[in-house]
Amino acid sequence: MKKLLNILLIAVMIVSLAACGGKKEEEKKVIYVGTNAEFPPFEYLEDGKITGFDMELIREIAKETEMEIKIEDMSFDGLLPALQSKKVDIVIAGMTANEERKKAVNFTSPYYTASQVIVVKEGDTSINSFDDLKGKKVGVMLGFTGDLVVSEIEGVNIERYNASYAGIMALQSDKVDAVVLDSEPAKNYVAKNDGLAIAQANAEKEEYAIAVRKDDTELLEKLESGLKAVKDKGIYEELLKKYF
Ligand code: GLN
Repeated sequence: MKKLLNILLIAVMIVSLAACGGKKEEEKKVIYVGTNAEFPPFEYLEDGKITGFDMELIREIAKETEMEIKIEDMSFDGLLPALQSKKVDIVIAGMTANEERKKAVNFTSPYYTASQVIVVKEGDTSINSFDDLKGKKVGVMLGFTGDLVVSEIEGVNIERYNASYAGIMALQSDKVDAVVLDSEPAKNYVAKNDGLAIAQANAEKEEYAIAVRKDDTELLEKLESGLKAVKDKGIYEELLKKYF
């Protein structure tokens, strides 16, 4: 009987300890950050770890605002749905704060200005503007702003890919004539792959910002103050130098 009581007592202790542990976790309130680590130099995998400009930026913001964050990697078109369904609380993914997205989520002030560019095979002089894409086979990434820009031009034969490297590979193997992509990742791919070039064509500027749910005003303010602190302390400038 005594033995049984002892066992029971130990069992109760284990259960209550586990409960305590659980509560501690909850108190810490981890903030989940969604990204798509296929967008160098903003976010990419290096030795299995997610790194890049955005990742360092959000880690610095978290430090400034004493937030504990955990980064979750997912497909780009799954990011805003994950935010809405509370799988993540923040999205930072080189995401352009465009009007369409602003209807669904809130954005911080912009942290980077970019634009769409056209990547072609080196020596291809037939494309010098976005209008020149008419009649061409053009690779874009599903749901990216490049997809929207090219979709507005009539008469383009659009091929949609899930990740920018897939589009670049299609260009290298002549499956498409051009790929429309954000400026920095495009420069990155052109620098790392022989035989590619960026066509001289102008597109409207786009601004990247961090997204949160519409009702999460407290988190938005926190991010805003963190972003300001990171800029004021010169950390932002250092990251720019490191990645661009
Ligand atoms: N800036 C583009 C967009 O918002 C691409 C972003 C990305 O691929 N990570 O759609």
